[in-house]
Amino acid sequence: MNPLSALYHVVFPSTCAACGQVLTVGERQLCLDCLASLGATCTAPQDDNTTERLLAGRYPLAAAMSLYSFHKEDTVQRVVHAMKFHSNSELCLLMGRQLGLELLRSGRFDDVELLVPVPLHWWRRLQRGYNQSELLCRGIAEVMPRPVVTGAVVRHRYTRQQSLQRASRRAANVEGAFSLRHGERLAGRHVLLVDDVLTTGATLGACIDALRPVEGLRLSVATLSIAR
Ligand SMILES: [Zn+2]
Repeated sequence: MNPLSALYHVVFPSTCAACGQVLTVGERQLCLDCLASLGATCTAPQDDNTTERLLAGRYPLAAAMSLYSFHKEDTVQRVVHAMKFHSNSELCLLMGRQLGLELLRSGRFDDVELLVPVPLHWWRRLQRGYNQSELLCRGIAEVMPRPVVTGAVVRHRYTRQQSLQRASRRAANVEGAFSLRHGERLAGRHVLLVDDVLTTGATLGACIDALRPVEGLRLSVATLSIAR
């Protein structure tokens, strides 16, 4: 680190997005303690893993995985919260790269051709400044180069935050919220659908329902996190 950067770091120290501690030189976005405490599922290489079982019956998925498992107020949940509510696009990209590395390591997603984020409603995207799932895709693409396709499927209905809904209400909250706009962009391709959180599978399920008419679609799913 050159002297000017070191001085900048002292005057304007960055803090960890999960615990708020001042980051030391070399740490980016998350301190080493928080990075180490992210609970990896380590199940990406396995058939019939928890993610696949949760989404079973929605669509004949080629493969599915989640990188981290979380429970209430742990580090993973704080990271996801920072991605959604603290305008932290850098953190989204960092998490995308982590997800991409795990996809590569698993060896089950090598023939994925396109990355498709679960879309946000335009109003929520405007409020947030970005779609965190799209940035996850862009982070994945940095380590696993594939085109990121947005706009093929859209979220046309504004829905209440899923995390504020009771589990029994989540499916009804998002049912029919997505629609297919440019299915031809995905026809005959192996698409990886990407989202930040998997809890009941209601949001991903509704998005998968919208993709169902795409001809010759081969579909896989990756999420940054899954509820324990
Ligand atoms: Zn931390």
